[in-house]
Amino acid sequence: MQIVKSVAQMQTICRKLRTQGVVLGFVPTMGALHQGHLSLVQRAIAECQTVAASIFVNPLQFAPGEDFAKYPRTFEQDARQLEAEGVAILFAPDAKEMYPEGAVTTITVPGIGDRLDGASRPGHFTGVATVVAKLFHIVAPHRAYFGQKDAAQLAVLRQMTQDLNFDLELVSCAIVRDADGLALSSRNQYLSGLEREEALVLHRALTRIEHSITIGERQSSTLLQIGRNVLDTATGIQVDYLAIVDPRSLLPVASAEKGALVAVAAYVGRTRLIDNFLVT
Ligand code: AMP
Repeated sequence: MQIVKSVAQMQTICRKLRTQGVVLGFVPTMGALHQGHLSLVQRAIAECQTVAASIFVNPLQFAPGEDFAKYPRTFEQDARQLEAEGVAILFAPDAKEMYPEGAVTTITVPGIGDRLDGASRPGHFTGVATVVAKLFHIVAPHRAYFGQKDAAQLAVLRQMTQDLNFDLELVSCAIVRDADGLALSSRNQYLSGLEREEALVLHRALTRIEHSITIGERQSSTLLQIGRNVLDTATGIQVDYLAIVDPRSLLPVASAEKGALVAVAAYVGRTRLIDNFLVT
C-alpha cells in the first residue's frame, strides 16, 4: 500500500489510474478505524478494481470546544488494517496540505446542512462538504463509500454531489454494530463502562420505534413519544434530537412510511452519539 501525503502526488496517481481505465473506489475516514470503516473498505474492494482510502481529521468540521484535539489518532494501526484489507493507496495529508495558508473557499449546503446534526453543530456540514469536495477533486473516484450511520452527512453529500456535478456514485453502506446493538463509532472509546451501558438506550429507543412500526403504528408524533419514553428511562444522557424525516431533505414527515429516516442523537456524559434506521 502506497502512503501519500501530498495533494499533488495523490492527484497524479489517481489521474493515471483513471486514464488507464481502472475503476477507482474511495473511502474517506478520520481514522481510528473500526469494523464500520472496514465494512466500507470491504464493499469498495468487492466493487472496484483499485481502492484508495483517506485518513484526515478535518479541523474544519469541528467547532471550537469540540473534540478535535482529543479525537483518537491511531495511524500506524489504521494503515496496517487498510493494507490487510487490500487498499492500494492511503491518502493522509496534514492540515496545512489540505488548507494551505490563504485558503478561504468553503462549500455550504443550505437547508439540509442546517438540519439534525447541522442544527446542533453549526458549521459542521460546511466543514464536511468542503473537505469531501476537495477529496473528490483530488481522488476523482468512480465510487465513494459512506456509512448510513452518518445519515445527515449522507444527505448533505448527496445534495452536494448532485449540485456540483461530481461525476461519481455515492454508495451508502449499512450501520455496523457491536453484538449488543451499539453502533460502532470512533467516539465510543470516550465512554466509561457505565456510559457504554447507558449508550445502549439509543438503540433500544430505535428498536422500540421500529417494532411499533412493524405492528402498524405509522404516525410520527406517536412513534416519537414511544421513543422518548424509552430515552427517558436513561439517566446521564441528554437527547439532542429524535426525529422522523425524509432521508434526502432531512425535513420531518408526519407519517413513517417506507424509506423514512428515524434518527437520534444524544450526549452520553460528554460524548455525542448518533444512530438511526430506515423504515422498511
Ligand atoms: P469517520 O471516520 O467517523 O468520519 O467515518 C468515516 C466513514 O465511516 C463515514 O462514511 C461513516 O459514516 C462510516 N462509519 C462510521 N461508523 C460506521 C458504522 N458503525 N457503520 C458503518 N459505517 C460507519
